[in-house]
Amino acid sequence: MLATFDDHGREISDAGLFVRDGFIEQLGPSSDLPTEADEVLDLAGHILLPGLINTHHHFYQTLTRAIPAAQNANLFDWLVTHYPIWARMTADDIRVSTQIALAELALSGCTTANDHLYMFPNGSRLDDEIEAAQNVGLRLQASRGSMSVGESQGGLPPDSVVENEDQILAESQRLLDSYHQAEAGAMTQIVLAPCSPFSVSQDLMRETAKLARDYGVKLNTHLAETQDEELYTIENFGMRPVALMESLGWVGDDVWFSHSVHVNEEEVGLYAQSGCGVAHCPSSNMRLASGIAPVLDMLEAGVNVGLGVDGSASNDGSHLLGEARQAMLLSRLDAGMRGASLSTEEAPPFMSGRQALEMATRGGADVLGRDDIGSLEVGKCADFFAIDLNRLDYAGALHDPLAALVFCAPVKADYTVVGGNFVVKEGQLANLELPSLIEEHNRAAMRLLEN
Ligand SMILES: [Zn+2]
Repeated sequence: MLATFDDHGREISDAGLFVRDGFIEQLGPSSDLPTEADEVLDLAGHILLPGLINTHHHFYQTLTRAIPAAQNANLFDWLVTHYPIWARMTADDIRVSTQIALAELALSGCTTANDHLYMFPNGSRLDDEIEAAQNVGLRLQASRGSMSVGESQGGLPPDSVVENEDQILAESQRLLDSYHQAEAGAMTQIVLAPCSPFSVSQDLMRETAKLARDYGVKLNTHLAETQDEELYTIENFGMRPVALMESLGWVGDDVWFSHSVHVNEEEVGLYAQSGCGVAHCPSSNMRLASGIAPVLDMLEAGVNVGLGVDGSASNDGSHLLGEARQAMLLSRLDAGMRGASLSTEEAPPFMSGRQALEMATRGGADVLGRDDIGSLEVGKCADFFAIDLNRLDYAGALHDPLAALVFCAPVKADYTVVGGNFVVKEGQLANLELPSLIEEHNRAAMRLLEN
């Protein structure tokens, strides 16, 4: 079965794809497709979806999962516990953690991932992440993050991990010139992403927006994640987080905000009207007790919403299909708290499994500003994943195989294909030696905690 997530939400049985040079050339009932190709993949008994799109992550945090001192902390305490550990990272740590995170993402059906890297200690650079990602085969949208306001200037991070603003802007420009691809089928794109309102100056936000708009690339930052942040922007700038961003020229269809938990109706309206997107990260929001983002209200208002697994120290995993399930369940908990357990006309609606998967596919493409991915349609990238339906996890759930993907416990993809190339084949990563990579990653993770 092919779930296209096209404008009509077509789900076609006994169907297939014909791919040429990385793009979908034909799509429909298998009997209508050419019978010969360089490679024919028989996926009888499988369900096939557009590749999932991750809109928020910090790959490097796979090195600091489940650290005891940060297990029961809210965002600010959690950050303060992690900053000094992350400050010990090297370029090699960035490389190994990038591959671990991408491996997990690929095995969960993801074909395009954004990553937000905002610390560059010990000579590490965004180049380390970009180069490490090239071996794996997923599309990467690398966000050049930044922090410039340290503790001594009233920011949250220690002074040792913040950078000089001129240097940040020069590096951003160098990366845009070196790596950003604008064409359909781009494998690498650059985003500019100052970390948060409590770690950069207003000036850096403004200058970064100017630079991004000169190059026509996207802007991203963490916003309205916690009540601490809201208090910070009100005390320091006299404004709520969204109003602050509006005052800095940071609204528009080239901007997306990660989290947006603490936003009111008016702010959701501004997102919808201006085209600001949202990266919804339900596991992280639960893990850090940040709160519940009003996702159904956003969707109803017309806001572009995608899903993100968020950094691996606050999830603590990169299972994007699992994240779609979390989004559905958390939205239902929210509905329950607003009266959905009482059968009345006014009871809030439920998020459906299909809505959750739509956020993970075409929603993510809208947020990242890409019209070449997110659905299975002629002319789009040949990015998809397939899952064998004949498995224990789905036994008894084949009344609706597509819903089973999020109603049943999350499973791993059997095939993940990007631009017609295998990234996962028969359940195994095609381009990585996983056992040695895990060993190396565990060694690096231990070393970071030992210092
Ligand atoms: Zn984040």
